[in-house]
Amino acid sequence: MKRRIQLLPDHVANQIAAGEVVQRPASVVKELIENAVDANAQHINLLVKDAGKTLVQVIDDGDGMTDTDARLSLERHATSKISKAEDLFKIHTKGFRGEALASIAAIAHLEMKSKTDDSDIGVQINVEGSEVSQQIPTVTPTGTSIAVKNLFFNIPARRNFLKSDSVELKHIIDEFQRVALAHPDISFKMIHNGNELFNLPQSNLRQRIVGIMGSKSNEKLVPVNEDTDLIKIRGFIGKPEFAKRSRGEQFFFVNNRFIKNNYLNHAITMAYEGLLKDKTHPSYFLYLEIDSERIDINIHPTKTEIKFDDQHAIYSILQSAIKHSLGQFNIAPSLDFEK
Ligand code: ADP
Ligand code: MG
Repeated sequence: MKRRIQLLPDHVANQIAAGEVVQRPASVVKELIENAVDANAQHINLLVKDAGKTLVQVIDDGDGMTDTDARLSLERHATSKISKAEDLFKIHTKGFRGEALASIAAIAHLEMKSKTDDSDIGVQINVEGSEVSQQIPTVTPTGTSIAVKNLFFNIPARRNFLKSDSVELKHIIDEFQRVALAHPDISFKMIHNGNELFNLPQSNLRQRIVGIMGSKSNEKLVPVNEDTDLIKIRGFIGKPEFAKRSRGEQFFFVNNRFIKNNYLNHAITMAYEGLLKDKTHPSYFLYLEIDSERIDINIHPTKTEIKFDDQHAIYSILQSAIKHSLGQFNIAPSLDFEK
């Protein structure tokens, strides 16, 4: 007999959405830290146990939530960041889909504590697989703490699919570094199984890069600064002699959001033409600012891919900005490298 159409219950819809938003513990790290940034936190602490398989917890000193908002934040499509379709074309926050917390709560045990500045008492909410098991007043500092335990407890296939702790931890560190590099003005700490892996005070960009990449990176950084009507570019590139065999030190941010874009990566690499040894890749930490109406960040749930109005123009501006910086610091192709 033909089945009739029925609307899926919310917890099932949430579980399906979770499949897109949450691939691994690192996805939880990204979503929670980005929420803390959006909430204007000055200090963000990340606690991780067993590469996130047992615990991912983010504690921030941001705006916090009232008890009503805290409860609502766990619903799907519940967001304080946009309210109408036009807003999609001018997004200034990391989040806007209102899906992350609902998705995470559908596939893990989530404990949230939050308090706003104008309230004396905060709220604690516990959720297990979309079911709220507890909501009580609690004493907690202004800001929000969200602990995510037993990720994928109700999706054994996903849980079994997770890689070794060292691989999952690497993914978490990647996400942590991306947000930390995008926001040098916020202090970040990361603790894994009781060991402090990062302790990054509020600083300027150069200090933040050095804090993450190590003190040796200081001497290899060349500043990039370019202002045009279409875009602003700032940041640092690595001197060619420090180019690496891996692409691990390539960071590209658009309006403070880490993104991947092969086309623009090509523009950067080509600017180094004749300067690099075979099979090496330059380091870069580049920040592009562009009118948010000229980009579309809504093409992928994790938002690491975006679409530009005018890719070709950006390609040329980026390339010439980098050539200019390399030239200014007297880094020109040497005869040895000429073909
Ligand atoms: P989005 O970030 O796309 O809005 P989320 O599911 O990540 O969706 O969060 C839902 C809402 O919960 C946010 O819009 C915000 O209002 C609130 N929220 C989430 N995390 C925090 C936090 N750390 N501090 C304050 N508010 C938060
Ligand atoms: Mg969010």
